[in-house]
Amino acid sequence: MTSPPPALSVRDLVVTFPRDGGTVEAVSGVSFDVPRGQTLGIVGESGCGKSLTSLALLRLVPPPGVMTASRIALAGRELTGLPEREMRALRGAKIAMVFQEPMTSLNPVYTAGQQIAEAIRLHEPVSRRDARTRAVELLRRVGIPSPELRIDAYPHQLSGGMRQRVMIAMALACGPDVLVADEPTTALDVTIQAQILDLLRRLQGELGMSVVLVTHDLGVVAEMAQQVVVMYAGRVVESGPVREVFDAPLHPYTRGLLGSVPPIGRPRGGPHERPARLPTIEGIVPSLGSLPSGCAFRDRCAFAEPRCASEAPLAVELRAGHASRCHLAERWVA
Ligand code: SF4
Repeated sequence: MTSPPPALSVRDLVVTFPRDGGTVEAVSGVSFDVPRGQTLGIVGESGCGKSLTSLALLRLVPPPGVMTASRIALAGRELTGLPEREMRALRGAKIAMVFQEPMTSLNPVYTAGQQIAEAIRLHEPVSRRDARTRAVELLRRVGIPSPELRIDAYPHQLSGGMRQRVMIAMALACGPDVLVADEPTTALDVTIQAQILDLLRRLQGELGMSVVLVTHDLGVVAEMAQQVVVMYAGRVVESGPVREVFDAPLHPYTRGLLGSVPPIGRPRGGPHERPARLPTIEGIVPSLGSLPSGCAFRDRCAFAEPRCASEAPLAVELRAGHASRCHLAERWVA
């Protein structure tokens, strides 16, 4: 019996931007699978290409960016060649997105209810009255108190946490199979951040969704995800099951990120303790237009050797489902 395809499958995703008469690759050959009902974390420093990757999944890369991929498939259905009209129908209905800053994503001149109802009516032929009823239910589901009243609130009349809940309600309006959340808690204070993560986890369990969680926060990945992809300079440098990658990383960049983070699984100080953020690694992320030859991480890597300057490492699977893009990765395989 063949197993069902993953909820989301991505192969060879590339995003380029024009620069100085040529192009630079902001996302370079990214591949991963998101198993059904699971969460995949995409982690990396600012500018590593993780947000562009998430936009590309919905074919929303802003111009003049250009995306290509040999495969972006939702439950086996190929999206790359779909006409934009069909892609629009899938966005929201099958794959939806929650952005970092709800104040810039919500329309300030429409109420929360109008925007959720609009998201429903975009995909389903329901009356305004029925859409409003469903919007109230969605607001209740995402934990907004007195949803019958809040439904008529404008975004500026809601707190940051409530606005993010409204965004999540909009994203869930048509029951997508895959939710892409780009730094969904970064703009929120710590207590609200924990509440929103709890909400996402609960909704995922109730609805059986798969989630792509883009974050710079390793603690959030440890708490929320089963699979992780570590990105550096537009490339996936390590990927695999979260426990394995965090307990036994096979790439110097991941090892550096994890270097000053408390061991995963160590009891936290309290329910609202801030999760560990990425520690700093010596040096700066190189400009995409002037990456070093060979390995893109070479200028910051304590293990670099001559081969790293002449030969770009390929991603190699060294344990089941756990791959690293480093010439020396075998050295860390137990
Ligand atoms: Fe460091 Fe070389 Fe591995 Fe790149 S390939 S991460 S420079 S050891």
